[in-house]
Amino acid sequence: AKSHPHTAFTEYQESYRVNLFDRLTMVEELIRAIDKKEFSVVYQPQWDFSTNHWHGAEVLVRWYHPTLGVISPIQFIEIAEEEGLIGQITEIVFAKAFAELKKFEIFRTHLSTISFNFSYAIIGNRSCVAVLEKKIEEAMIPQTPEIVIELTETAMVQNVAATKALLERWKTLGVKFSIDDFGTGYTSLSQLQQLPIDEIKIDRSFIAGIPIQPTSNEITKAILAMSQKLEKTVIAEGVETSEQSEFLQANGCQVVQGYLYSKPLDIRQLKAALENPPNL
Ligand code: C2E
Ligand code: CA
Ligand code: CA
Repeated sequence: AKSHPHTAFTEYQESYRVNLFDRLTMVEELIRAIDKKEFSVVYQPQWDFSTNHWHGAEVLVRWYHPTLGVISPIQFIEIAEEEGLIGQITEIVFAKAFAELKKFEIFRTHLSTISFNFSYAIIGNRSCVAVLEKKIEEAMIPQTPEIVIELTETAMVQNVAATKALLERWKTLGVKFSIDDFGTGYTSLSQLQQLPIDEIKIDRSFIAGIPIQPTSNEITKAILAMSQKLEKTVIAEGVETSEQSEFLQANGCQVVQGYLYSKPLDIRQLKAALENPPNL
């Protein structure tokens, strides 16, 4: 495959949702893009206050459209989910990320974890599970960063027992589970106790209110306190200012992700960032 200009991968205009295509054209374009493997990935590293080093990185999909340029996942993930195309996109994302990490020799010594966004539909889709299981087994050598699967809270739980069984099957592969956008959805605290969840990501809408909005401050503190009691890793996302970072650190947050530390990077930039961590 031809490589694209360096900057095109990571930058696109602010990601509010616009109608790029009508629905039918979008579906046709997505099918074509899957066939042509027009999707690529970027990586946003996460900073660990306790080690003063990088913790892991989140993989984010980008659609490199031949005429429109880089298209944000906000424009197409939802439609891909509704049209049953998300499984194929996730397979491409997985394959690209593992191939790049291998090629650039990014190991667990550089990055403890590598996180993927999974639509909840994938977790229960047999054929997709089979493909991804095989990919995970191939990728999982001792040097590979630990795989974390981020599930969004809104989609998660209708039936706790069934969800538990699905997640536990995946856990046998050695992956960890994270709840994305925590605080915006429906996960009850009892589900948090019953499901095999290892990590919580505090939604960036709460972080955005720190330190001006008293309610954001208090909700964030409560989530941090609860996560510690339950012994879950907690990651604050969307950290953009040093005030937010200081507040989080003072309240026991260990891992942070956001523009203050790094924007999403292509694999070359990621490698460079891992070799030259910021001096914080
Ligand atoms: P998310 O999982 O909540 O990912 C974080 C989003 O916040 C990313 O947007 C990231 O670029 C952005 N971000 C990171 N730091 C900051 C910050 O400091 N400030 C602000 N304002 N934004 C920040 P992105 O890449 O546009 O992804 C949007 C969403 O698309 C993701 O939200 C995720 O839900 C979905 N997505 C991305 N990649 C995939 C994928 O491979 N599969 C699936 N199913 N969904 C994906
Ligand atoms: Ca995520
Ligand atoms: Ca999120």
